Amino acid sequence: MKEHRHGKRHHSPRRGHYHADMLSVEEAFDRIIAAFSPLEPETRPILEALGQTLAEDVFSPLNIPPSDNSAMDGYALRHEDLKGASPENPVVLRVIGLIAAGQVPDRAVEPRTSLRIMTGAPTPEGCDTIVPFEETDEVERKARGDSMDEIAILVDQPLGTHVRPAGEDVKAGEKVLERGTVLRPSEIGVLASLGIERVPVIRRPRIAILATGDELQEPGETPQPGRIYDSNSYGLAASVRRYGGVPQMLGIARDNLEDMHLKLNEGLTADLLLTSAGVSKGDYDIVKDVLAERGKVNFWSVRMRPAKPLAWGMLRDEDGRTVPHLGLPGNPVSAMVAFEEFARPAILRMLGRTDLAKPTIRAELKGPIVNFDGRRVFARVRVTRRNGSYYATPTGPQGSNILTSMARANGLAICPEDLPRMEEGQIVDVKMLDWNEEVGG
Ligand code: AMP
Ligand code: MG
Repeated sequence: MKEHRHGKRHHSPRRGHYHADMLSVEEAFDRIIAAFSPLEPETRPILEALGQTLAEDVFSPLNIPPSDNSAMDGYALRHEDLKGASPENPVVLRVIGLIAAGQVPDRAVEPRTSLRIMTGAPTPEGCDTIVPFEETDEVERKARGDSMDEIAILVDQPLGTHVRPAGEDVKAGEKVLERGTVLRPSEIGVLASLGIERVPVIRRPRIAILATGDELQEPGETPQPGRIYDSNSYGLAASVRRYGGVPQMLGIARDNLEDMHLKLNEGLTADLLLTSAGVSKGDYDIVKDVLAERGKVNFWSVRMRPAKPLAWGMLRDEDGRTVPHLGLPGNPVSAMVAFEEFARPAILRMLGRTDLAKPTIRAELKGPIVNFDGRRVFARVRVTRRNGSYYATPTGPQGSNILTSMARANGLAICPEDLPRMEEGQIVDVKMLDWNEEVGG
């Protein structure tokens, strides 16, 4: 006999906290997102900060490049010495030195002289123009075994050719990156180019994840009769990591009061607590009871398929600590779709992002979507591109337990509440889960 059967009889939940109203997706979204704002800053090594949001403007402490330098392998010289140079009428200059990248020139270019210079090397004093070695007789001269103490210049070029001026890219004191910028590889490169090693960013939210259910067992365990593996914890934790949060996996809470309370307590220091299962109508009351007892939790029916049942509220412990709690449905596809709609934007907002919407495209349906009870349907589809048009093919059975059809999908096609059916050939909005070469993004 299971413990919870016992518990139920003696436990009287505060049913006043239950609200079984039907909400639109937008109403649910608005109520949830209102609880989140950007988290406080932390200082991170630049590489660790990939995907995080800058908490302060970044000003350059230096010029980039730091000094005038050469854009070519060639000869550093004075423009006035080039006048009229051509293959028929070469200008012969004395070569008085060599400057490799990383070296500092130890002498100036005097009239009628030049220095051999490598790409990126600082130009010597007196130099205002670089002639690439291809525009000289260097190759022939070497082939002939002639002295390299002289070089014949075969072109006249405008003043300043191939000289990259100091500060061309960035000037000392200039604002280079704005507060609020999401750090991508290019921004991380820019920070490194400024000599910056650590950077103030909005910290990553920690998201506690708790699976609930007596039927669940951990992947790796021998399959037990009547049990299924806990896939939600893993799908959700991976989603958290993908969108920039730090998952804290709390494991599995059994359907009894003690275990639920214990495991929920571990999630109270997180920025958001995600649970899965135990929130639908037919469910055994224990999860609802515990949640209702622990704070202000609402049990919603959201006008969407999958993922109609949703719990949302603030969970608290005896010390008054609270954590926002999102109770996702138990069926694996429902849990993931609800995550995409409600948890992902919460994570992004905590990360300081302002664009919370998923990339959405319009595609031609390659199979029907059935909507039999006036909800917004999120149909799993595979989007492909042909001749500049997008096509969305449903990935098979759309039951909320069919997780492999989620794995085959790269997008969620949206059938509006008021359409009982969408036919092949109709144009549909698709929220993209992935955006890769196959799609053409
Ligand atoms: P419930 O909301 O508890 O009725 O769960 C709904 C369905 O989701 C049931 O078939 C559960 O077995 C299944 N389910 C619940 N939790 C998980 C989980 N962590 N991983 C996979 N399936 C789950
Ligand atoms: Mg259950």
